[in-house]
Amino acid sequence: MTLDEELLAKARTARERLVSLQHDAEIAQADYHYAIRVLHAGGGSMREIADALDLSHQRVHQVVDAGDPAAGRRSAERADRDRDRAERDRTRAEGDRDRAERDRDGAERDRQRAERAERRKAQAEARRERAEQRQARRTERRNRPEQSGGAEQSGPPGVPGYDQLFADTRHVLDLARDEAVGFGHNYIGTESLLLGLIRANQGNAGRLLDAAGVDLETARAGVERIIGRGAESTDAELVPMTPRAAKVVELALREARHDRADLARGEHLLLALLREGKGVAAQILAEADFGRYDDVRRRLGRAGLRCSFCGRDGLRTDRLIAGPGVFVCRECVDDAARLLAGEEPDSPETADRLALVASDSDREVATCGFCGKPGAEVEQLVAGPDTAICAGCVELCGQIADERSGSGR
Ligand SMILES: [Zn+2]
Ligand SMILES: [Zn+2]
Repeated sequence: MTLDEELLAKARTARERLVSLQHDAEIAQADYHYAIRVLHAGGGSMREIADALDLSHQRVHQVVDAGDPAAGRRSAERADRDRDRAERDRTRAEGDRDRAERDRDGAERDRQRAERAERRKAQAEARRERAEQRQARRTERRNRPEQSGGAEQSGPPGVPGYDQLFADTRHVLDLARDEAVGFGHNYIGTESLLLGLIRANQGNAGRLLDAAGVDLETARAGVERIIGRGAESTDAELVPMTPRAAKVVELALREARHDRADLARGEHLLLALLREGKGVAAQILAEADFGRYDDVRRRLGRAGLRCSFCGRDGLRTDRLIAGPGVFVCRECVDDAARLLAGEEPDSPETADRLALVASDSDREVATCGFCGKPGAEVEQLVAGPDTAICAGCVELCGQIADERSGSGR
């Protein structure tokens, strides 16, 4: 096909016009951008330029930077730096957060550690306090043995009311166990209790046994004769009491209550051995003519009183007759009666403490301590170290002693 020459000419004319206009537009744009750059270089801010020419700030930026390649590069570098810096800031912030996190964790751990230390300190404090309280209780028990509780000390197996025994009485039980083991017995019997009392040799029980001449040797011989030796070899800690011995301990507690005593002493144990009456101990005491329960009870009632003539303890005589602030024992009454009857004193000791007041002059300065009559008014007078007794009072005291003997023994 062949192009229409006329139309082709019109196209060529239009293209020339367009190229020309495009060229003009490029020049106008170049002038425009140049003017913007001049405005900026003259101190105008991009914001002002953008507002004045109704352009975006971004566009002004591009125009300004396009006129200065270095500026563009700087801008890119600045953007890079900004980005890097933002990145670093972010990293640093993260680091700070992590560190803060770690610090918080550390603080928490420190707090927990401090709490644990505090708890340990409190526990140690409590332990120390408990130990001190235990020590105080131990000291208190040591200082007041009669008050000691029975929780820790239970004594030999089968002992009733161990906590109600006086410390000395517990010691007697220890000695009793020792005697039982010594005899090769695998039990603590009444005879062991008696041997323990004799060995302890304490208080009124010791004095009573001593006065009756019941000594360890005699009593041990009695035990050996009556029940013999055993071949047992047992753990001393585990040696139990026989039911009879346990009953004796129970009776001892009853004797203590009879005396309104809080704790049982050796004398209560001795009374209980007599009260029980059927054990080997009672047999040995009977053989030694120790005296029966009532007699021993009476003597105990006189513990601490003394004969004004011989000084004998009320425990050591079966009769002690009282005058106003004076006492005379059965033995001294008998000795005085013999002197008054004209007999010689039966021993040098008797002669030392008792004397017949013979001369009138001696009688005048003496007074009977029992009836209060002056020596001059009485027929005969026997003088002791501190007081005297007239013949009439010696006879009366002798009758009183015999009367009580008749009913008591
Ligand atoms: Zn006497
Ligand atoms: Zn008299």
